[in-house]
Amino acid sequence: APQNYDVVVIGSGGAGLAAAIQAHDEGARVVIIEKMPTIGGNTIKASVGMNAAETRFQAMKGIKDSKELFYQETLKGGQHKNNPVLLREFVELAPEAIDWLADHGIELNDITITGGMSIDRTHRPADRSAVGGYLISGLVKNINKRNIEVLLDTSVAEILTENGAVTGVKVVDEYYDSRILYAKSVIVATGGFSANREMVVKYRPELDGFVTTNHKGATGSGIAMLQKLGADTVDMGEIQIHPTVEQTTSYLISESIRGGGAILVSQAGKRFFNEMETRDKVSAQIIALPEKSAWVVFDEQVRANNKAADEYIAKGFVISAPTVGELAVKLNMEHTTLEETLARYNQFVVDQKDEDFGRTTALRHPLNQGPFYAIRVAPGVHHTMGGVTINTDTAVLDGNKQPIRGAWAAGEVVGGIHGANRIGGNAVADIIIFGILAGRNAAALARS
Ligand code: ADP
Repeated sequence: APQNYDVVVIGSGGAGLAAAIQAHDEGARVVIIEKMPTIGGNTIKASVGMNAAETRFQAMKGIKDSKELFYQETLKGGQHKNNPVLLREFVELAPEAIDWLADHGIELNDITITGGMSIDRTHRPADRSAVGGYLISGLVKNINKRNIEVLLDTSVAEILTENGAVTGVKVVDEYYDSRILYAKSVIVATGGFSANREMVVKYRPELDGFVTTNHKGATGSGIAMLQKLGADTVDMGEIQIHPTVEQTTSYLISESIRGGGAILVSQAGKRFFNEMETRDKVSAQIIALPEKSAWVVFDEQVRANNKAADEYIAKGFVISAPTVGELAVKLNMEHTTLEETLARYNQFVVDQKDEDFGRTTALRHPLNQGPFYAIRVAPGVHHTMGGVTINTDTAVLDGNKQPIRGAWAAGEVVGGIHGANRIGGNAVADIIIFGILAGRNAAALARS
């Protein structure tokens, strides 16, 4: 039998969960549809944190920042390809989204930095653990408290319309039974398409053979469904490769390791670039090395400040040794070269001036406390910046920039916010900011 809702949310990542909570609190009857057997999407893998400027947590730590600087740095990182109107909205609403999370019991009150930013504005949990798990478990608590219905192992096969307006969705469950759920508003929060190799290669043939950091549900189905309704897309070829991916496990080595003071070293035992540059540039430098891979090298002090490091050690792919010389031997490097590299870098930290590659951020402390650690990394497909077009209400737009009535989208499924290169920490901001907005607007339309 058909079922009636006000709002159907497709996808249980950060965008979908935030949207569902907000829509519920605006009085809508909400259901979340998730094709995978578990909640959390690719968001659960998010590592570094959530960027925002002029937040209460920055103020508490005495960090001076401005929305304008955040805007300019994101635009520069995105090679000025970002949609300026969406980006303004993003920067403007970011501190409110930090507050919204805190009000929902999800406090991101520790702050670090990522590549391409000049100020500590990446908000993360107090215990400095990866943001994804903390965020999803906090959102799920809110979903459960409200008794919002979640259908797992159920995928949306089609978004239904009548006279150009959304009327509901057709879902297929794990037993291949299909049924129709009616709703005036459908929020598409299906994430990106990094795990859809065919789609990635269609837009970027040279990425054939690259590993991906994404969960296997990142197939881009939401984009395809919305295109059927006439939705326009933008920047589909802008696919981010993340520079530091452990290749045997496809495990992402968080930018927060570099943000905490780690360096990148080639097989020759030398630094080769500013480690805190944007992801596109660091990736290109690694691919240009003869072995097309590099080592993330850090010391005990960096490890002790980052929970993720312990997770990597537990995974078994971190090489460690009590001294730099012994680490070099294990990495098949000339030990004097690696020793000289660290000594030189350590002097740059003391001087707060990187004479070789101009690194200006995260020159945290000299790498001089054993044990020393190294992880071999190479780039992997990480984020699809392109996607469907929306307006600042999160309404999905057609080829004439007109909203498709009842169709809303938020999160990685949307294109334009990040331009040609997403800054680390901006995806979590994106999903929460636009997730809340989508929930609010979808509820308002459905109840009108
Ligand atoms: P975001 O970061 O934008 O919130 P995520 O990748 O975290 O995106 O979450 C998107 C979720 O949507 C994933 O859990 C994915 O399995 C789910 N999903 C994708 N396509 C469908 C579909 N057609 N039906 C139901 N769920 C889907």
